This record gives sequence, C-alpha cells and structure tokens, in this order.
Amino acid sequence: MPSIDEFGLIARLFAPLARGHAGAQGLQDDCATIDGPGGMDWAISTDALVAGVHFLPDDPPDLIARKLVRVNLSDLASSGARPRFLLLSCCFPRAMTADWLEGFAAGLAADCRGFGLALIGGDTVATPGPLTLAATALGEVPSGQALLRGHARPGDDVWVSGTIGDAAFGLEVALGQAPDQSDLLERYRLPRPRLELGVALRGLAHACMDVSDGLVADLGQIAAASHLHAEIRAAEVPLSAAVRARLGGGGLERAVTGGDDYELLFTAPPERREALAALGRRLDLRLTRIGRMMPAGDLRPPVRLLDGQGTALALRRPGYRHF
Ligand code: ADP
Ligand code: MG
Repeated sequence: MPSIDEFGLIARLFAPLARGHAGAQGLQDDCATIDGPGGMDWAISTDALVAGVHFLPDDPPDLIARKLVRVNLSDLASSGARPRFLLLSCCFPRAMTADWLEGFAAGLAADCRGFGLALIGGDTVATPGPLTLAATALGEVPSGQALLRGHARPGDDVWVSGTIGDAAFGLEVALGQAPDQSDLLERYRLPRPRLELGVALRGLAHACMDVSDGLVADLGQIAAASHLHAEIRAAEVPLSAAVRARLGGGGLERAVTGGDDYELLFTAPPERREALAALGRRLDLRLTRIGRMMPAGDLRPPVRLLDGQGTALALRRPGYRHF
C-alpha cells in the first residue's frame, strides 16, 4: 500500500469528494447523515469484513454474517440512530459450499429479524481472493440530533459502556494463542451494538463514537474532531474478570489498544453524571467514567493514559491501523 496511512488517504484523496455535503462530516464520523422526510435524518454507514483480517476463515458462517450486520449497527448506535435498512455485498471465493451459504443466510436472517432490519439490496460476485463482505446500514435519527465525534467540550467527562479488551483477548483465543475461553471468543465473534444506549444518549452526550480500533486510538478521533486533548485514568477502564486475569505482560496495553470492542465511547458534562448513572441502571449496562476532555495544549500525545500517580503510560501504538 502507499506510504500514506489509512486516515491520511481518506482525508487527502476522498474527503474532497464529499463536495461540501455537511452530513458527510468531512468523512470523519461513524455515519453520514442525509435529510429524510418527516423531521428525521437518515444515518448511513458502511463497513467491510475480510477473511483473515476481521474474522478467521473457519469461523462459523452464521456468526460471520451477524458480525457483519453488527459492526454496521454499532456505527448507527454511535450516532443515536435506529436501524431500518441493510444493503449487502458479498465477494465469495468459488469454493463456498451450500452448507456454508445456508449458515451465512441463517445468521443474516436472525439479525435482520432481531434488529428490525429489511435487506433492500446488495451485490454478489466471485473473487479469486479471500472471502470479503461489505454491508451498508441505514438508520433513522430525529433531524439534526445525530451524535457526532466533534462535539466534545473542555471539561467533559469521558465515558465508556460495557467492558474493554474482551474482543482483543478473544482474538488471541480464536488464533489459538490463549487458552480457550468462550466468553472472550464470543465478544470477538459477536459484537453487541449498543443501540438502546445510543438512542438514549441523544441530548445527554456531547460527542459519541463506537470503539472499533482500540479505546485510546478512538478517543483520539473524538479529541481530534473536537480540537481537544483527553486523559484516561488506566485504573478506571472497565475490565471484565477474564481480562483482569490477563493483565500481566502488557495485557493492559493490549486491552486499551486492541480492536473490536464495539462499545460506545462518549463525552458529557459533569452535571449529567446522575442522569447517566440512572441510564446505566435502566439499561442494565455498565457505564463508566474513565477520564476527561481538556483544551488542546502542548502535551503530546493528544490522548494520555495515566497511571495511579498521574504519569502518562507509554504505548507502542494507540490502536489498530489497516495500513
Ligand atoms: P468506523 O470505524 O466508524 O467504521 P472508519 O475508521 O472505517 O470508521 O472510517 C473513518 C471515516 O472515513 C468514516 O467517516 C468513513 O465513512 C470514511 N471512509 C473510510 N473509507 C472511505 C472511503 N473509501 N471512501 C470514503 N469515505 C471513507
Ligand atoms: Mg465507528
């Protein structure tokens, strides 16, 4: 690939093609929005999954289909949108078996039913390369209320839902690099898009995104889009018991920089703490305050992970990069 990185490529070569459409958010947000009828906007996101990159070729086909649907729904969740429609493009190697395809369709059917999605189009082609799948999800959000990455303000608390790092360790289980542990593996294979939370955060959160490339890197996206810096207290990052048991030997770094969490990362002013605690109880979902946003100063990097003494921990890389 070129020497330019993923985000540089998008910013330099693709973003100008948005031709000033405000809802494209400069190609820097989880979803784009388009004015819809009746006081609503369409929130739209597309994501591709490649065998060997986002899932393992021998993963169960129903779970591959469901992961494809859910990573797209996670972007709708991060915008506060309710899912409505799905488009699906499949690039199948010729060797796919009928059993595999049946399993894939069954997984797709289960999640379309479960999330109230109608499959309205797509494309099906053969490829000499690995299995490659792409989906586009369309959701509805009240006009002008989509949650954005760029609306964080100095002094906001930083919050995250659920627990962080399970999927990164689940991948190690899937690769046979760690002892079998089904709860971690499931977090890697079957994300849980936080749709109810996203809807409830409209009007409560300032900025929001979903964590797909790693907590530290993704908070960096909120910081950059909001022209701010951020601090996270390492001890506050919510970890499952299974991840806690793996914290030795660089485990914390793997948890906060590993991908595939699909939790919501959001900012809100301190006066919303009570409301957010109540929301977590209502949804029976852990919501944890992990840090704060601050004016962009001279401190580098823009997101600092602090230990108990307030010293910034050195990270080899903040998150996953495709190139
Ligand atoms: P997410 O992890 O939320 O799916 P990405 O990191 O994949 O977001 O993408 C970041 C932003 O870049 C998004 O706004 C996405 O729409 C945009 N983007 C990524 N690739 C392309 C592309 N090939 N053409 C246009 N926009 C793109
Ligand atoms: Mg996203």
